[in-house]
Amino acid sequence: MSEHSPQAIRAEALESLLIDQGLLSESDVDETLTLFNDRVGPLNGARVVAKAWCDPEFRAALLEDGTAAIEPFDFQGGEVQKLVVVANSADVHNVVVCTLCSCYPWALLGLPPAWYKDPAYRSRIVREPRRVLEEFGLTVPESREIRVWDSSAEVRYLVLPERPAGTGDLDEEALAALVPREAMIGVAVL
Ligand code: FE
Repeated sequence: MSEHSPQAIRAEALESLLIDQGLLSESDVDETLTLFNDRVGPLNGARVVAKAWCDPEFRAALLEDGTAAIEPFDFQGGEVQKLVVVANSADVHNVVVCTLCSCYPWALLGLPPAWYKDPAYRSRIVREPRRVLEEFGLTVPESREIRVWDSSAEVRYLVLPERPAGTGDLDEEALAALVPREAMIGVAVL
């Protein structure tokens, strides 16, 4: 978002109004920005993915109940009160959308990218997922079913990508560094 975009101007006006009314302080705003810029981001999700690749028991627990499984990480940012993790396999590719707005697992992925909020993505990924994924540069083999998961205020999804071949000797930290945000939304693979 550019500094002078209509959205930025509107956000600034809203912020001033809330501060004037005493509903918000400037330090609240700074703290929230620091939280999402520095402490919450896709690396949290990547750490979860890497652990699932290395630890079969954790993987099973994560697929069973995502919210409970990630509790020990103590991630901040919220929006994971009902986290459902869906695993890619040789037969299935998963992709996540919020058709209504932009619901997203903040604690794991930070704030959603602009395209995730775009009405075109939100409607087209449901109707023609294979074609939209092509536009992201991802060709899903015809033999692989594409499942589109529609997020809501109640349920947030995370895609567990397949572990890439040739990474057998990497530890969790090195593996986490390989996992891009897009792979956890399902518009990319590793
Ligand atoms: Fe939403």
